[in-house]
This record gives sequence, structure tokens and C-alpha cells, in this order.
Amino acid sequence: MPEEVVRKRLFDNVFVCMNCKAKKRAKPRKVREGKVKCRKCGSKDLRLKSKEDRS
Ligand SMILES: [Zn+2]
Repeated sequence: MPEEVVRKRLFDNVFVCMNCKAKKRAKPRKVREGKVKCRKCGSKDLRLKSKEDRS
């Protein structure tokens, strides 16, 4: 498997808590189903990290 694909896949699974900005790796399907909670504040309001800054 090409390295870019692996890296992209890892990136795709990183979510950021809208509440406290903590990062969390999870399966997108589980996040959509509301099964993933922020480990810091317990919020389910997560969004994909990959959409924002790539610096
Ligand atoms: Zn949080």
C-alpha cells in the first residue's frame, strides 16, 4: 500500500472536539452514530480534523 494512502487514512480518522479542541482518533462511522465521545469533556460534538489546517 502506498504511503500516502496510509497517511491519508490516518488523517481521515482524526476528529477534533468542538467543545475543548481535543483530538481523538476514531472510525468516522462510529462518530456519526454518536458512539464516540471526547475523552476530555465527554462531548459527542466532534468534527473531522482533516478539513482544517494542515500546517
Ligand atoms: Zn472535548
